[in-house]
Amino acid sequence: MAGEKYVYDFSEGHRDLKELLGGKGANLAEMTRLGLPVPAGFTITTRACQAYLATGANPEGLIAEIDDHLAALERAMGRKLGDAGDPLLVSVRSGAAFSMPGMMETVLNVGLTDASVVGLAAQSGGNDRFAWDSYRRLIQMFGKTVCDVPGEEFSDALEDAKKAKGATDDLHLDAADLKALVESFKRIFAKHTGYDFPQDPREQLRLATEAVFRSWNAERAVLYRRQERIPADLGTAVNVCSMVFGNLGADSGTGVAFTRDPASGAQGIYGDYLSNAQGEDVVAGIRNTVPLEDLEKLDAKSYAELLAIMAKLEGHYRDLCDIEFTIERGKLWMLQTRVGKRTAAAAFRIAAQLVDEGMISLDEALRRVSGAQLAQLMFPRFDLSADPTVLTKGIGASPGAASGKAVFTAERAVELAAEGEDVILVRRETNPEDLAGMIAARGILTARGGKTSHAAVVARGMGRTCVCGADQLEIGRDRVTVNGQVITEGNIVSIDGTTGRVYLGAVPVRPSEVVQYFEGDKVEESTLVDAVHTIMSHADASRRLAVRTNADTGEDAARARRFGAEGIGLCRTEHMFLGDRKELVERLILSSTEDARNDALAALLPLQKADFVDLFRAMDNLPVTVRLIDPPLHEFLPSLEELAVNVAVARERGEDHAEDEELLDAVRRMHEQNPMLGLRGVRLGLVIPGLFAMQVRAIAEAAVQLAGEGLHPRPEIMVPLVGAVQELEMVRQECEQIVAEVVADSGVEVLIGTMIEVPRAALTAGQIAEAADFFSFGTNDLTQMGWGFSRDDVEGAFFWRYLELGIFGISPFESIDRDGVGRLIRIAAEEGRAVRPELKLGVCGEHGGDPESVHFFHEVGLDYVSCSPFRVPVARLEAGRAAITGGDSDSR
Ligand code: PEP
Ligand code: MG
Repeated sequence: MAGEKYVYDFSEGHRDLKELLGGKGANLAEMTRLGLPVPAGFTITTRACQAYLATGANPEGLIAEIDDHLAALERAMGRKLGDAGDPLLVSVRSGAAFSMPGMMETVLNVGLTDASVVGLAAQSGGNDRFAWDSYRRLIQMFGKTVCDVPGEEFSDALEDAKKAKGATDDLHLDAADLKALVESFKRIFAKHTGYDFPQDPREQLRLATEAVFRSWNAERAVLYRRQERIPADLGTAVNVCSMVFGNLGADSGTGVAFTRDPASGAQGIYGDYLSNAQGEDVVAGIRNTVPLEDLEKLDAKSYAELLAIMAKLEGHYRDLCDIEFTIERGKLWMLQTRVGKRTAAAAFRIAAQLVDEGMISLDEALRRVSGAQLAQLMFPRFDLSADPTVLTKGIGASPGAASGKAVFTAERAVELAAEGEDVILVRRETNPEDLAGMIAARGILTARGGKTSHAAVVARGMGRTCVCGADQLEIGRDRVTVNGQVITEGNIVSIDGTTGRVYLGAVPVRPSEVVQYFEGDKVEESTLVDAVHTIMSHADASRRLAVRTNADTGEDAARARRFGAEGIGLCRTEHMFLGDRKELVERLILSSTEDARNDALAALLPLQKADFVDLFRAMDNLPVTVRLIDPPLHEFLPSLEELAVNVAVARERGEDHAEDEELLDAVRRMHEQNPMLGLRGVRLGLVIPGLFAMQVRAIAEAAVQLAGEGLHPRPEIMVPLVGAVQELEMVRQECEQIVAEVVADSGVEVLIGTMIEVPRAALTAGQIAEAADFFSFGTNDLTQMGWGFSRDDVEGAFFWRYLELGIFGISPFESIDRDGVGRLIRIAAEEGRAVRPELKLGVCGEHGGDPESVHFFHEVGLDYVSCSPFRVPVARLEAGRAAITGGDSDSR
């Protein structure tokens, strides 16, 4: 844009300009404002980078602006960039709004040329070795990052030079060796680029700046952003800073420091120092650093000054700061500071400590932690100190750490678990048939499927560890082969549902004290648990959204309640029809006479009632949303292929096959090409007489029974897959009749509502609200039907490409698509409430436990989110965070 300012001197910016100047630039400016010793320099904005990346050329006016700021820098320093006699040298560093450590590029010593290297030697008191070493570093870094010269060519040449000299360390190379090395580096440079190493310092600066711009799109940076959910279009700023040297002798050095321990959060001084070195030596681990405290002995004055600055920075930022500094001949320079990254445990501890110290408010403490961090604290962990063998890697689909005997069928999982064995169920993919095995297993490992595959969703729901999509696994009948290793039943494997790693053998596990705390178990004195308690209490006091859970059993419900759930938002009743009961459902679906159907229903009624009694008891006094049955029908029927084969074989052999034949006809009649878009949800209720009625009766009878015991059950009946108000009206009428008859004057109150999970329902919510006491958004189906993506197999097939192309930054099945599916939710919420202001609104799809989605649901005014039991604390925390606005959140 013409007239836009693209370059800011360090003295012009401040810490709130992160988006424009990047984190590093904004903080260098802030330190400059605070009067700390920062080498002079300027920052080229992220907007310049965006313009460069969009057009492939520097935006108009940028070069002139850089020239102006460089001239000012030269005046301030009393030296000219690359001057032959007394050169100014600069570093050119990346720095985006969100920290992306080591993902982008940096070039140091820009300004060195064949002429100025001599000037640098003179400037450093005749230190020729230093000057030539600096020059070879520039050619190496510049060649690699700016011109894509393979880095090994330089490092090989350096190794050759050391070998020729019989040296083990760079420090053993003298000025003459390094001068010769510069010559060979220049030859390498020219061979790969076709031109000589640039001798114009301004040309060097321009090229280095453009290379830093481009490094925003380096492969590792793109991957990192995807992982951290950092938007792809922000671009990086470029910091041009006058060089100070830590490698000028024993009175120089470089280091990093933290104002608190970033691993544990403990207060104190933490850091490392390396004398006679430049920053990249510390990162590369070329020589061993010493603890920061040792600096006191080496340079007491600089040490004292550093401690004072650290205290000042922590007080100023009111948070853990990490710092990079250099000492040049006894003079301390600050090269960087930022609010430091920390582990999840440290994040909670530090936030609570700062509240105790009166530095920040409870609101601010809540802003500084995240649901993702809390989730990390809840998983048991592998203790990797014994360095276990990694077999392969899949997608970490449901966090946790589980070890056990490999089994390849759900039946074997159940059998071995019954014998008291820990098992890992290994399958190509799972289906509802495997549920019993999944429940019995410590963990689930699949070769196919992504984060929303059946295995992943069900495992997350149960809090079971799961790694899915480990596509190197070759699944056989009784064995799995992976990278040449054969695993048979009983071999121990371990899976890490956070990292997706699969290990051979048992890996010891540590339990999470935070889960023990949520469970209400006695926990030994723990600063972490205290911190979690402080912050969770504030989240609960702040949030407007209620948090319910998705649970189908009394046991899950009871656990979720201990975790803070305020009711059940979704009980999937089809989960109650598996196992032994499947046969009854099959009979019900296929029965050709009313009598047969009624028999099946009569057999199911007491079983269902017992299920609901358990659930209502566990959630006494709290609302329990029971969804009427909603499976795709094929899940309850025998496989068409199998039956057809059986009939064919029996016919061939002349055996009696009349019964199978009849069944086959029935299954054929009901067969659907797209079962997820077929006879499920409300459609089932309208097609199979008596099915919903039986469920409603079971719900009402269970509630009446408990009310008789003096409890206070609060059932809510939910109709799935409604697309038109007529569907709901018909089911509602039937429900109301039964409820009225069963409940009579027991005092039990039953609400009747619907899921909003078909786009048409969202778009006609005003009509549907006339017949609904509540809406619950089924965002799994709403995403499936909104995008037209099959929720069962979409990820593996093409999501990777969509992520790569930036069509979305994260799967819309994982985090709500605000613009599309989110809009459907907004419309339905607004139009539903316009008709019925007291309409209760919730969400029960997977998104109910996703941190970013929780913020969206808060914004659109829902009353509650419902999620799997293990996500309840995460949702509570995020609902609290969503309710407090403003302030600076640096929790990324
Ligand atoms: C949904 O579609 O979001 C939902 C909760 O229902 P289910 O996942 O059982 O289809
Ligand atoms: Mg659904």
